[in-house]
Amino acid sequence: MIYCKKCLQPNTRPNSRFSADGICPACNYVETLKEVDWEERQQEIKQIVEFGKQHNKSGYDCIIGVSGGKDSTRQANYVKNVLGMNPLLVCLSSPPKQITQRGADNISNMIKMGFDCITINPAPITWKDLMKQSFFEYVNGFKSTELALFSSVPRLAIAYQIPLIWWGENSALQLGETSVMGKTGSDGNNLKKMNTLGGGDITWMLKNEISKNKILQYCYPSDKEMDNANLRITFLGYFWKDWSLIDNGNFSALRGLDVRNDKPEEMGEYVGVTALDEDWTPMNQMIKYLKYGFGRTTDYVNEDIRLGRMTRDEAITIIEKYDGTCSPNYIKSFCDFIEISVEKFWEIVDAGVNKNYFERIGEGKYKRLYKVGVGL
Ligand SMILES: [Zn+2]
Repeated sequence: MIYCKKCLQPNTRPNSRFSADGICPACNYVETLKEVDWEERQQEIKQIVEFGKQHNKSGYDCIIGVSGGKDSTRQANYVKNVLGMNPLLVCLSSPPKQITQRGADNISNMIKMGFDCITINPAPITWKDLMKQSFFEYVNGFKSTELALFSSVPRLAIAYQIPLIWWGENSALQLGETSVMGKTGSDGNNLKKMNTLGGGDITWMLKNEISKNKILQYCYPSDKEMDNANLRITFLGYFWKDWSLIDNGNFSALRGLDVRNDKPEEMGEYVGVTALDEDWTPMNQMIKYLKYGFGRTTDYVNEDIRLGRMTRDEAITIIEKYDGTCSPNYIKSFCDFIEISVEKFWEIVDAGVNKNYFERIGEGKYKRLYKVGVGL
């Protein structure tokens, strides 16, 4: 395990490769931003807006995939008020036992600003069964739900004949997951190659007698369907000089976004503006940390380091304190939902823990074997 020389990204992120000088892809990307001709990017976005307007058949010239969180609130306002488009918001909703009141309030707050929104609600029992299967097979309870999130939106775009989808962050550039990279930095048509989506493969879901008819919202459209629909997926984050957790969080909080008030050690990070619509993301980030040696706190401090808001040393202290932490209440509530005991939960998680990085010292307790910022 090796750390980026500039930030605190270890080289364990799936589908990510450091450059020969030991720098992570995201730091290299931030470096290139200094040279960006933002005026040229404005021309590029104008062409995309034009594409949406030209191919508008239904009245809506684009879709924005939203959760009601900080990024969606800012994006929706930008697309409508700055780009002058007529977006349809599409929200994949978690089932009632998962969605928080805060999440429901945030969606209400957003649509009150004057948007049409379609909410997709996949069947809760199938959702639960797939979540359980994802957790047991991949030690990642979110594998199926992320497939639903990224598949249901293009499915709806094709059905409604809407030519353009806006997503927010390009994980190829902003996080360094290079397999997602398309023809340009704004091209999202390779999104299904994201590590957790596995190219849109759903064969693993069809075991346990779940028929394809029950998982339609989890099926990413085929390349042929995408081509026939002439569907274009675009990352809005690519066009913003100030796309960041704090900038998006501030913009949206000033417009009524309700943020988290947990303690950092309960949610595994120190900002509290992400994953507002449900409470199991901290648990999933804790598992990611035990698999790869970094969780959400690492992602956040890295952004702060790159923006010059924090030194590498300050960031190490914060990672040591909060990364990989999670409230036992969230773990318990996830276990109750997928109907397993907390003992079983830790048995499954333990099988996924990277034993080179962590030593088990008790149920749910692990000792770090590497030094943050130094590696193994
Ligand atoms: Zn870096």
